[in-house]
Amino acid sequence: EASLQKEDSTTDLKDAKGFKGHDMLAPFTAGWQSSDLHPLVIEKSEGSYVYDSNGRKYLDSLAGLWCTALGGNEPRLVAAATAQLNTLPFYHSFWNRTTKPSLDLAKELLETFTANKMAKAFFTNSGSEANDTQVKLVWYYNNALGRPDKKKFIARAKSYHGSTLIAASLSGLPALHQKFDLPAPFVLHTDCPHYWRYHLPGETEEEFSTRLAKNLEELILKEGPETIAAFIAEPVMGAGGVIPPPATYFDKIQAIVKKYDILFIADEVICAFGRLGTMYGCDKYNIKPDLVSVAKALSSAYMPIGAVLVSPKVSDVIYSQSNKLGTFSHGFTYSGHPVSCAVAIEALKIYKERNIAEKVSNIAPRFQDGIKAFSDSPIIGEIRGTGLILGTEFTDNKSPNDPFPSEWGVGAYFGARCEKHGMLVRVAGDNIMMSPPFIITPEEVDQLISIYGKALKDTEERVKELKSK
Ligand code: PMP
Repeated sequence: EASLQKEDSTTDLKDAKGFKGHDMLAPFTAGWQSSDLHPLVIEKSEGSYVYDSNGRKYLDSLAGLWCTALGGNEPRLVAAATAQLNTLPFYHSFWNRTTKPSLDLAKELLETFTANKMAKAFFTNSGSEANDTQVKLVWYYNNALGRPDKKKFIARAKSYHGSTLIAASLSGLPALHQKFDLPAPFVLHTDCPHYWRYHLPGETEEEFSTRLAKNLEELILKEGPETIAAFIAEPVMGAGGVIPPPATYFDKIQAIVKKYDILFIADEVICAFGRLGTMYGCDKYNIKPDLVSVAKALSSAYMPIGAVLVSPKVSDVIYSQSNKLGTFSHGFTYSGHPVSCAVAIEALKIYKERNIAEKVSNIAPRFQDGIKAFSDSPIIGEIRGTGLILGTEFTDNKSPNDPFPSEWGVGAYFGARCEKHGMLVRVAGDNIMMSPPFIITPEEVDQLISIYGKALKDTEERVKELKSK
């Protein structure tokens, strides 16, 4: 319990004076966390489980970082990587030189996307690089069209698009901006489509969506449509707290975006390849994007890789004017890394063979209904999700307007209790997020629900205790 007390405390840098931490400047970790609490070192993975350096086994309810879709030890992915490493561990794709795995993956990947026709795939190492590439591509496109003023981006409050300068700018999370001098000035943020938190009294989901679309239109008109280049959205918002769109939201938003000749970018980094029970989030919500970002499950995270899918509308401009434009001077040493591509090709093959999206949609009700059965808990404000992605928000009085005092660390306590009971979850303040691997079995879903229930009971007791103080 002593360690739990510590884990409960909120980040207070004053108390962390003198702490040095381990040797790694750890991503998304507070200084005091890496120093005072030794890190949880994960050493091995197997199916839906990971093992720490003390041999403790945890159900990995977030699939790494929403990414190890095929679980922790898919031998075919290992074999694909090994075979490629033994043949050609690296060659690049610059200057019209390339490798067979990158060409093959581009072809295979484009075929998986059917919501709209996609003509080209550009490879990156990550989701952040994919979204940075989107911005450069859109600017390049508008420069080619002779529209030098059409350069602004509209993203949404609470979105997560990554951590590089531009991707963090697009993101709508204050923690990514504060202390980093962000966002960049060409990024505007519009409403977060979270019905429970933001709807007006008596407003239906459809009316809420209508209002948000109207607000978007007003923002576009205020800025001048000739200055707005693109709109970017995650089909289901992930790191911002797992927020599926309200009814009719994307229909109405797309109509506005189209009206002003603004490109629609779908950030499918979390949603793609089956997580929502459809191959892409765009399939589920009838989104017809001009550009798509993918990463994570593309290789089931066994090798780093992301991609941008480019519609003919954009690629035709680039290709038809290439005499005038010259070289497309953008790319990474590891764009289309052959080992990453070989693994991704195998992952896509497995998704197809196993009808992975259908498998997810079959198991999703067990997961969603099982967790949503806890909705009546007095400390839960809302449980939301679809497919194999789910968020829990702890609030008092079932109200979005009554957060628990942050120093109570309710979310952190729940996370620590899950860990004690053998499960890893994602904690962000009083939001808990889960996105288990696509290969999770019914028995594992039941175990996940059971651990969630135990941790919830512990947390309810804790809140009762804190309230009585
Ligand atoms: N977009 C979304 C929707 C994401 O969830 C993430 C990562 N969680 C990113 C982009 C950034 O991806 P990466 O961490 O690979 O840069």
